Amino acid sequence: MESNDKAVKIKVEKLRKCFGDLEVLRDISTEIHEGEVVVILGPSGSGKSTFLRCLNKLETATAGSIVVDGVDISDKKVNMNKVRENIGMVFQHFNLFNNMDVIHNLMLAPTELKKADKKEAKERAMAMLKRVGLEEKADAYPAQLSGGQKQRVAIARALCMKPDIMLFDEPTSALDPEMVGEVLAVMKQLAADGMTMVIVTHEIGFAREVADRVIFMDGGYIVEEGTPQEVILNPKEARTISFLNKVL
Ligand code: ADP
Ligand code: MG
Repeated sequence: MESNDKAVKIKVEKLRKCFGDLEVLRDISTEIHEGEVVVILGPSGSGKSTFLRCLNKLETATAGSIVVDGVDISDKKVNMNKVRENIGMVFQHFNLFNNMDVIHNLMLAPTELKKADKKEAKERAMAMLKRVGLEEKADAYPAQLSGGQKQRVAIARALCMKPDIMLFDEPTSALDPEMVGEVLAVMKQLAADGMTMVIVTHEIGFAREVADRVIFMDGGYIVEEGTPQEVILNPKEARTISFLNKVL
């Protein structure tokens, strides 16, 4: 089935975002479908992180609309905590709690925010650790883990909330090169399992292999979007070509 036949998970229309006088997102419209893997490419400062953060309202849009699973999140009456429970986010800097062991990092949000039963939360945490290949690290503290392991724990932690959309903001950019592969492998498996994913990354090889669609952003606009074949192998726009020449 073509991804376009699937349910729309996120619909973005004419999104604008300003920080004071600085217009960071100028006119962004796109749709993310169920099970789709969308990779966002673009130079530093082009608005990629701001765009991701608008999708779960870590930033409030200045204008335009964002509809997540049929809910218009620009509506002030919407319970964003509820919406965010379904949207996992993974950052460049893992944001683990360093004073807690891995298993408690994973159990925290489900027990505090979702009032999940402790035993159930622990079982799910162990299952998610297994999914990222780290069940033997349940009792370790973040300081005892490598960067790649920390990021896999951060992914497992997001999965503990049973999200149906995952957002990744440069998840491998802070890692030593030898650890990038293990994190990308976990993300690739997640994609294969059908997760809806929006990923900001400079890993062009990963984008080519895993993305259903690539969006190239520059200056607060979507300059070009399409399949990896179209955008990465046959870019049409001068700005896309120039960017790819620098990163490839
Ligand atoms: P990217 O992720 O593509 O590097 P960002 O979305 O982080 O781009 O940033 C886009 C622009 O918005 C940059 O000029 C950045 O300095 C600015 N910006 C981002 N966040 C803020 C903020 N909270 N306040 C003011 N300016 C910001
Ligand atoms: Mg960024």
